[in-house]
Amino acid sequence: MAIRIILEKCTGCSLCIKTCPFGAIKIQDKKAIIDLSKCNLCGACVDSCKFGAILIEKTTLTKVNLNEYCGIWVFAEQKKSLIQPVVWELLAKARELAEKINTEVSAVLLGFKIKEKAKELIYRGADKVYVVDDESLVNFLDEPYTNILINLIQKYKPEIFLCGATSIGRALISRVAVKLYTGLTADCTGLDIDLEKRILLQTRPAFGGNIMATIITPFHRPQMATVRHKVFASSKEDRTRKGQIIEESIDGILLKGRTKILEIIEEIGSTVNLSEADIIVSGGRGVGSKENFKILEDLAKVLNAGVGASRAAVDNGWMPYSHQVGQTGKTVSPKIYIACGISGQIQHLVGMQSSKIIVAINKDPDAPIFKIATYGVVGDLFEIVPALTKKFKGVL
Ligand SMILES: Cc1cc2nc3c(=O)[nH]c(=O)nc-3n(C[C@H](O)[C@H](O)[C@H](O)COP(=O)(O)OP(=O)(O)OC[C@H]3O[C@@H](n4cnc5c(N)ncnc54)[C@H](O)[C@@H]3O)c2cc1C
Repeated sequence: MAIRIILEKCTGCSLCIKTCPFGAIKIQDKKAIIDLSKCNLCGACVDSCKFGAILIEKTTLTKVNLNEYCGIWVFAEQKKSLIQPVVWELLAKARELAEKINTEVSAVLLGFKIKEKAKELIYRGADKVYVVDDESLVNFLDEPYTNILINLIQKYKPEIFLCGATSIGRALISRVAVKLYTGLTADCTGLDIDLEKRILLQTRPAFGGNIMATIITPFHRPQMATVRHKVFASSKEDRTRKGQIIEESIDGILLKGRTKILEIIEEIGSTVNLSEADIIVSGGRGVGSKENFKILEDLAKVLNAGVGASRAAVDNGWMPYSHQVGQTGKTVSPKIYIACGISGQIQHLVGMQSSKIIVAINKDPDAPIFKIATYGVVGDLFEIVPALTKKFKGVL
């Protein structure tokens, strides 16, 4: 979309200035001027102009022939040639959806010396794997990865495209969706099919997690969605599964980009990776300080657990953001989640409520966390957590 002032009609009356919520309009030489870096095309000025002097022009998109699109694709994210676990979860969901609409599941794998990994994708549910193998794809880079995906999508026309809501997935797939003029629903917690219309139903929390919104992409293809790790169950490996591996040769121009990786510095974590942890000991505002987190870390060490945090603890600078659990942090699904001094607001719960066992330690018996807790301990975490550490030290 684009916005412009029709100078012949503009009288410089300044009505539009008052209605613009972004302060994007000023009058110069008795004519309105729009600062495009501030304007968000909300259209308030268009409605306010009595002289019809402001015009928003919509880009006319060519109508998509929906019948040309077929099949479900999963982006097979890899790091250091290891397929990321979210891919197994997406393949499981893709298979379930594919059976409903009687179509096939494909994975798309980009990397270097990666072809051998394609078989793993077939064992986990892909019918076809499109592989692009090139030295320049050894590490993720936005531009070549985006160019290649767009090229493949335009060539093969999948009707649904799923991707992990990882840092790479988020960076990549939004670019792809924009360039293909299609819709993208980020961070879905549920995916299903409207069988009558053969449309993907993409469900995700909205309005701060207070409602679940189901979003559809009825007129554009592919229908694109990202899903966080651990939202869906993984597909099981079946080494008897057969599929087709298609090696794609790509025009060198698609591999070009404006950025290059100079160095990769691994984050050195003292504790277990939160997304992969079987047990998580998590702390909230009730922990009280950065230093106090030590008692949670002591318990985590004994249990070989990861340490999580509520946003309140992260905002206070007690734990790094990478440990935040919840709507704007990580989604986790460990076997045991021990919530210490966390009240249990919805934005926290959406990130951990699928944990198998939830243990809540809170001194307020009415704290909402107790509603979803498997075991609740009403009491002071400063007494209970060290007592647990002591007890487990003796047992484990
Ligand atoms: C758009 C949006 C996104 C958000 N995203 C997230 C997110 O990703 N993750 C997240 O966590 N939050 C998120 N929030 C914030 C969320 O709404 C809550 O503010 C936050 O989760 C509260 O953290 P808390 O439970 O640690 O703190 P509080 O709600 O203040 O709870 C502290 C708890 O500690 C207990 N307590 C205090 N002292 C002790 C003690 N000595 N022993 C035992 N218990 C004690 C209290 O009884 C209380 O229940 C988001 C909010 C918004 C609006």
